[in-house]
Amino acid sequence: MSIHACAFCGSSGPLTGEHVLGDWLSRIGLDLEPVLHGAGPLNRIGRELGVRPPFRQKVRDVCGDCNHGWMSRLEVTAQRVLTPFILGEPGEIEVADTGRIAAWAQKTALTAMLVSSEEDRDHGYGLPTSEYRDFYTLREEACPLPVSQFWIGRYDGVRGWSVRVTPLAVRIDGIPEPDRPQGYAMTVVLGQLVLHGVRFTTPSLHAQVSTRLDLPQLWPSAGPVSWPRGIPLDDAGFLEFSGGTEFRSTEKHVELRPWKPATELAPSQAVGGMVELQAICGAHVVYYPAVLVHEAMRGQFYAFWTACECPIAYLIQTEPDGAHCIAADTTEAITEMYDALEREEYLIQDECGDFCCKRLTSSGPLRFET
Ligand SMILES: [Zn+2]
Ligand SMILES: [Zn+2]
Ligand SMILES: [Zn+2]
Repeated sequence: MSIHACAFCGSSGPLTGEHVLGDWLSRIGLDLEPVLHGAGPLNRIGRELGVRPPFRQKVRDVCGDCNHGWMSRLEVTAQRVLTPFILGEPGEIEVADTGRIAAWAQKTALTAMLVSSEEDRDHGYGLPTSEYRDFYTLREEACPLPVSQFWIGRYDGVRGWSVRVTPLAVRIDGIPEPDRPQGYAMTVVLGQLVLHGVRFTTPSLHAQVSTRLDLPQLWPSAGPVSWPRGIPLDDAGFLEFSGGTEFRSTEKHVELRPWKPATELAPSQAVGGMVELQAICGAHVVYYPAVLVHEAMRGQFYAFWTACECPIAYLIQTEPDGAHCIAADTTEAITEMYDALEREEYLIQDECGDFCCKRLTSSGPLRFET
């Protein structure tokens, strides 16, 4: 993708700043506190974004014609249909609007992913450029890309908003793990609303999917959708939910899981019994016990919070590919999120002192090898 071409239509016309989230969201009474953007390559959030007021974040890879044309029309529909749900007022989505709302969620995810760097995209992070072109081709169809499913639910947690995209691998019994993701999960949280979707980029691997929270399906449309229905999403479940781990394939031999990325991610540096992690402020490093890396290799993942000297506090979780910052905020806000995680807390004691973390998976016994 040329740096100076519109990601969607490929035009080299003047590029404008497209808001990751529409301006209208700043006018309906949502909290405008600065928070970190929740999108990026494999959810390594904030690295390119820093702390900025939400709704002000813009990407510069969209041309004026796209921005003020079809994208703006999707925002108009989203504002009309979604505003009550964002503010917690029950209602119904008419059949005629379901496709446009699913398309809006997909557009929002695609736009948010434009914040990943050119280099990241070259390495297969971000989303394939064909996703943008295909979406543009279908822009007047009032529906998301084919081979996708979307759900709508209620969010009951402390985040004001979040946009997350997680690459997915489709595992089929007896077939080795693929070297590229074959789909991705999208999660858009706004106020009390959560839109959740999955798109398969390898159509032959299309798996019918349901969600553990039994969320009503928005797309493909099966009729009008009333809101709220299903189990509300809380912060204890948010990480796994937005990571796509709560999708259930309805086919016995097919499993969806977050894609284990290739190994070219900059490795964290081991310092004694601690691992050094570049803080997303860009200026500092934070540390966590190396034992959590060994645990991650065994499929055990943890969340913990820490802070840099800025001071910015971070909520961090370990994942198959390392530790990732999933939120950055004041110490008060981050400890509130950490406390809200209804998971068992573990204390790791070694020469570096005491370190608290919460375990995110529930399988198998836990042993720390310090
Ligand atoms: Zn364009
Ligand atoms: Zn990750
Ligand atoms: Zn810092």
